[in-house]
Amino acid sequence: MDKKQGQLVVVTDFDGTLMHEDVGAMLMQELGVEEKPETKEMLAKFLNKEIGSREWIHESYGQLGGRQEEVNAIADRVSLREGAEKFLDFCKSGGIPVTILSDGMEYYIHRILKRFGVEVDRIIANPIQYDKQGNYMLQVQNKNGACSWCGCCKAGVVRSLKAQGYRVIYIGDGSSDIYGSGFADWVFARSSLARYLEQEQIPFYPFATFHDVMDVLEPQLEQFHNGQAGRRSEIPHAFCKFAAE
Ligand SMILES: [Mg+2]
Repeated sequence: MDKKQGQLVVVTDFDGTLMHEDVGAMLMQELGVEEKPETKEMLAKFLNKEIGSREWIHESYGQLGGRQEEVNAIADRVSLREGAEKFLDFCKSGGIPVTILSDGMEYYIHRILKRFGVEVDRIIANPIQYDKQGNYMLQVQNKNGACSWCGCCKAGVVRSLKAQGYRVIYIGDGSSDIYGSGFADWVFARSSLARYLEQEQIPFYPFATFHDVMDVLEPQLEQFHNGQAGRRSEIPHAFCKFAAE
């Protein structure tokens, strides 16, 4: 991305946000990962916030080695959220770079975007891949020395964009977005992210489709570009930690 002081950027989550479905959750349900007794216990701990997504990802995605065809079959029948393509075109023609920020698997994100012929400026996700020989690589994105709770440290990515002077529109739906959205200037939220923000009385724009997002952005695009659209202040989640700089 070209660095420009005050440049407006969009950061969007993938599963359950850009996508209609939560692909990661579908993989774990449909491929029987969640059903295994040893995994069940970890899932319960993850949902109960006793362990972070990083630990859960190692356990759950760790079981998808050698199952590329099954992963492909699921990735090949999911859909983009309504209005997503139009929204991405709108960002492209308006010179607003888009980053997909996901605590999911890089492999299926690339595969799904390719199938829809959709391109974004950056994809930041957990580098979990099958290589050409079918070997499986399982890594997480998180390089935050002060906190290894999440697989992908979304808060660290958004915090860094803000430190570089970008204005950030964050779009998300789930638990990992609670941390990432905390550093953004504007947040569009649905599902559990929306419920959390509402409960904490943190301002956000609700959305169900990307038409809803455009209905807010389009009429006041200039104000978003110059930072004058009703902004929220940074409200980082108290849980997030970073090393001193
Ligand atoms: Mg999500």
